[in-house]
Amino acid sequence: MNLQTKAQNTWCPGCFNFVILTAVQEVISELIEEKKLAQKDVAIVTGIGCHGKMFDYLNLNGFYGLHGRVIPTAIGIKLGNPKLTVIGFGGDGDTFAEGISHFLHACNMNPDIVMIVHDNQVFALTTGQMTPTTEKDYKGPSLPSGKKTEPINPIALAMSAGASFVARSSAVDKKHLKRTIKEAINHKGFSFVDVLQPCITFHNSASYLSKHIYDLKKKGHNPKNFNKAFQKALEWNYSLDEKLHIPVGVFYKERRKTLEEDFSLPKKPWYLLKRKNNYKRLFSFLG
Ligand code: SF4
Repeated sequence: MNLQTKAQNTWCPGCFNFVILTAVQEVISELIEEKKLAQKDVAIVTGIGCHGKMFDYLNLNGFYGLHGRVIPTAIGIKLGNPKLTVIGFGGDGDTFAEGISHFLHACNMNPDIVMIVHDNQVFALTTGQMTPTTEKDYKGPSLPSGKKTEPINPIALAMSAGASFVARSSAVDKKHLKRTIKEAINHKGFSFVDVLQPCITFHNSASYLSKHIYDLKKKGHNPKNFNKAFQKALEWNYSLDEKLHIPVGVFYKERRKTLEEDFSLPKKPWYLLKRKNNYKRLFSFLG
């Protein structure tokens, strides 16, 4: 199944967003061919930033959302029609700056949606301002004296907030990325995947990532053990420290009640239900 569109691609040539796009296209095509998904039953949501162009390049139903509002939009779609597989794409600025409250509440409420963050550690579309995951001392066009604060750690944050699927992958390893995205789609609950994505124009971490990444699975990590997973989450602090190693893979995974299961939703999607309009009651207020 070809999920490409005819839209002209405007990412910088060589951008690692191409890897994420291809990985997503291949995973969804495979799931469609295996009859585990139908193209019409997949809905995507994007925010604002370089990642947002995924909306233009993926031949799937969706909603090109507002900055930082990918998660509430995705939850709304899921509650409206729980049969859909809903996949949100956000940037690190989009998700962890503007959208941080939505992110934390989603980890806690556990809606059955996937959230893929293109984490290039800068606001790339607006020429490289710092985001919450930018490393300390980073200098950019709008930050000549360097960032003064430590980056946040989205993996530890998601786990602390109760996320039921927490993973990290990287656009420098497409095979690993595909495997992680597939596992996230197959998980029932809020599936968060932080994808380390070098921005070759404003934050080119490609060689650092390639050198420092290691696969949790190959080290026998058990994603059901919360305490061990949390220790792993703290192993790398989103810096470019040569002494550190970067674990990638599924840190933590548990099956727990989703938001939709808690909500006792009607059998039909909400948009097919007849609304009862009680005009008499409404007019009684107007006197
Ligand atoms: Fe990719 Fe960075 Fe160019 Fe955006 S600015 S398209 S993230 S290389």
